[in-house]
Amino acid sequence: MNGDTERFHAVSLSGGKDSTAMLLLMIERGMPIDTVLTADTGMEFPEMYAHLDKLDGYLYAERGIHLTRLRHPHGYEWLMFEEPKQKTASLENRQALGVTPFGNGWPGVKVRWCTGELKTHLIAKEVNRLKGEYNAINYVGIAADEPSRVKDDKYPLVDWHITEPEALKICYDRGFDWGGLYEIYHRCSCWCCPFQRIAELRRLRHYHPELWARLLEMDRRAVAQFGDNPLGRFKENWTVEELEERFAAEDRQIVLFYPW
Ligand code: SF4
Repeated sequence: MNGDTERFHAVSLSGGKDSTAMLLLMIERGMPIDTVLTADTGMEFPEMYAHLDKLDGYLYAERGIHLTRLRHPHGYEWLMFEEPKQKTASLENRQALGVTPFGNGWPGVKVRWCTGELKTHLIAKEVNRLKGEYNAINYVGIAADEPSRVKDDKYPLVDWHITEPEALKICYDRGFDWGGLYEIYHRCSCWCCPFQRIAELRRLRHYHPELWARLLEMDRRAVAQFGDNPLGRFKENWTVEELEERFAAEDRQIVLFYPW
């Protein structure tokens, strides 16, 4: 990468273990960094926000720059419940289903609006601007054990043969531990993500009851607004209310078996 030192260097940071390890090593190895971009969905765990603040402090101390946090102007819940639909086909479809012309509802496998609107479009737009204006190089934190995701940017972790478990260790060794988030969850993106496994949701209820309460509220609103169709369905076979009943019943079973 030495031949690239004259170019503008942008780092795309999700805030997870891979991109954090990449940024920490880029700083340590004296690699040029001109900007660090991160997209904030507004629905990250509090521990993730604390991690980003800590990383921001370290970046500023080492390189004199702050994280550039990109946000959708209205945010997750506005997109989910309030965005006015405008395309004729969409309006006709809503009318046929008897569904309100506002909001996108819960993200689904076929319409995963959240990733694009709240993350990838924001980052891609800024990266493309930097590439156009400054011939920027974009660094992406993909680990060496997920090479299928590699496209045409720079992937230092792949070049350095650093795997996902190694990336996490690199962060831990340097005092970045997300307040233990990775000890609880397999993934640390939006706490309200409907694509989480049931086991992760069970942990969310246990370890973050305040976020679980917000999720229950969001889902009640989705069911009331969109009804029993993919927009109003959190998971194909489960509302959050039903999951609450299931988890509560499991808790009662545990008490029956282990009453001490
Ligand atoms: S983590 Fe889930 S809810 Fe958040 S942007 Fe990604 S897919 Fe959407």
